[in-house]
Amino acid sequence: MVECKFCGGSELRDAVMLPVCKMRSGMLYLMKDQTLPGRMLLAYKDHIRKLSSLSRDEYRAFMDDVYSAAKAINEVFNPDKINYFVFGDKSDHLHIHLVPKYKDKVEWGAFFTMDRVGWTPLSDAGYRELVCALNNSLQNGGLS
Ligand SMILES: [Zn+2]
Repeated sequence: MVECKFCGGSELRDAVMLPVCKMRSGMLYLMKDQTLPGRMLLAYKDHIRKLSSLSRDEYRAFMDDVYSAAKAINEVFNPDKINYFVFGDKSDHLHIHLVPKYKDKVEWGAFFTMDRVGWTPLSDAGYRELVCALNNSLQNGGLS
């Protein structure tokens, strides 16, 4: 059985993302690859494989958290657009990628690279600063 990186501790998860905050429907993470500044991921609170397995109310709560996260990304990073991706071919735990896109940066008008070779890390202080700014924005934006 393959271990789920979103349930319990996971070195694989911690190597590529940092927790930002717990939301009503799950855990919001900042991706350590900040080639596209503000790239995040929202993992659903329970080990559920399919979006369609959620009740309509659970789905609405999940999308409400996506909305709050997108508002925070817009406030902190001011991207030209945010792309949203739900994959899951290789993960049995529902999650959504929030990928800010910028006209003057890589992959504008194209698909984003999920596991980029030569990705852009920040310093620990840089990550802390972003997590703090995102939390401030989420709190001010009425995170439930
Ligand atoms: Zn899981």
